[in-house]
Amino acid sequence: MTMTSEQLFYDKKTGFDKLTGSDKKNMQTYAESYKQFLNEAKTERDAVKEMVRLAEKKGFRAWARGEALKPGDKIYQVNRGKGIMLAVIGKQPLDKGIRLTAAHLDAPRVDIRTVPLYEDSGMAYFKTHYYGGIKKYQWTAIPLELRGVVCVCTGGQVKKVEVRVGDKPDDPKFVITDLLPHLASEQMVKKATEIIKGEGMNVLIGSVPSETEDEKCSEKIKLAVMEHLNRKYGMVEADFLSAELCCVPAFPACDIGFDRSFVGAYGHDDRVCSYTAATALFDLRAAPAHTCVCLLVDKEETGSDGVTGMQSRAFDTFMADLCRTQDVLPEACYENSVCLSADVCNAFDPNFPEVSEKRNDARVNCGFTLVKYTGARGKSGTSEATAELMARIRCIFDKAGVVWQTGQLGKVDQGGGGTVAMYLANRNIDTVDAGVPVLSMHSPFELIAKLDLYMAYKGFGAFYKD
Ligand code: MN
Ligand code: MN
Repeated sequence: MTMTSEQLFYDKKTGFDKLTGSDKKNMQTYAESYKQFLNEAKTERDAVKEMVRLAEKKGFRAWARGEALKPGDKIYQVNRGKGIMLAVIGKQPLDKGIRLTAAHLDAPRVDIRTVPLYEDSGMAYFKTHYYGGIKKYQWTAIPLELRGVVCVCTGGQVKKVEVRVGDKPDDPKFVITDLLPHLASEQMVKKATEIIKGEGMNVLIGSVPSETEDEKCSEKIKLAVMEHLNRKYGMVEADFLSAELCCVPAFPACDIGFDRSFVGAYGHDDRVCSYTAATALFDLRAAPAHTCVCLLVDKEETGSDGVTGMQSRAFDTFMADLCRTQDVLPEACYENSVCLSADVCNAFDPNFPEVSEKRNDARVNCGFTLVKYTGARGKSGTSEATAELMARIRCIFDKAGVVWQTGQLGKVDQGGGGTVAMYLANRNIDTVDAGVPVLSMHSPFELIAKLDLYMAYKGFGAFYKD
């Protein structure tokens, strides 16, 4: 029998002609709940809180070391309010391995400095330090909101207060100003990395002087800001030293296009994979064959270091604690486990074809994307998934009717990047990158396609059930 070119060729095709009737319906409602999640989860702390709320609604409970577990149990553990590990215990023992998904909850943003507050030329500002890989000029002249926590220390007592200003319609917002074009002739010929300097990303926060009679004080606007913060949060300037505050874009997630096929929002990278991987776990109906774990970490955008990053031992400790309930060696569990390192990839952008490799880069609406390797130059800084693992995952997705494709990070010599995949693979866990293609990645307003979003959810679900 001769085979047709359709059977013989691998072509990236739009997923629209492969969607079932229920896919089409579910895709829309799923995107609505995702948008709500994004509006809540603009920092990793907010994302963890929202994950706990959603998980508990689905029958998950906080679990502590030593508590007995049985198949079907749904548990979670929070790491310092900034990461979360969720698990559904499977019917098979843990030395048969787990089905692991790992995504990150942090996103590029503008952090408030440790000593941030000052007054200059009749205005008050916060000094900042950007977090993650950003094009700094994209963060000026857009509305920003302030989120985070302050650990207020008074008389040896610590009180943690939450700050969230700018996300309600009548809330004030904040901004980093930019130069008018009329005076920008020098700025406009600078390199994009120098148009806005890191030290120039100062957030405007006020301009009205305090009416308090204080002859010693020459900075009355700064004083007014501190008086406001003291009234509202009980803090003094020194409390900034024990705070984690950041500015994030102040616009909510919305549909893009006449056909509403895209979601535009801040923070798709990597809340889109966090949300799809977690909700697919929440929606497991029966106890799965293998224990399924969804790991949502912090600090990916700065290299995965630190206690809440993927390189922390927090995950190993959680897994060792799980394994101890069944008298299983964690090493035995790891070597039989499979991991989808769930992170976004670049979508081919016809506005910038010169950096992409058309055959290999992911396309919007072509589905959930498997990336065999990331890294830079000669595949440096990556864990490459084996041919065997790629085959295994292909079969799982095909069987479950998941629309999927493969992706890569642009032209070979163009640049590069990485994910948490290598930190999991280094632990002797078979790992492959899988995620959703993104346009305008790391900008304040990223774009994903609803079809790809829904197929990621479907793909993670099929993976857990394998
Ligand atoms: Mn990412
Ligand atoms: Mn990123």
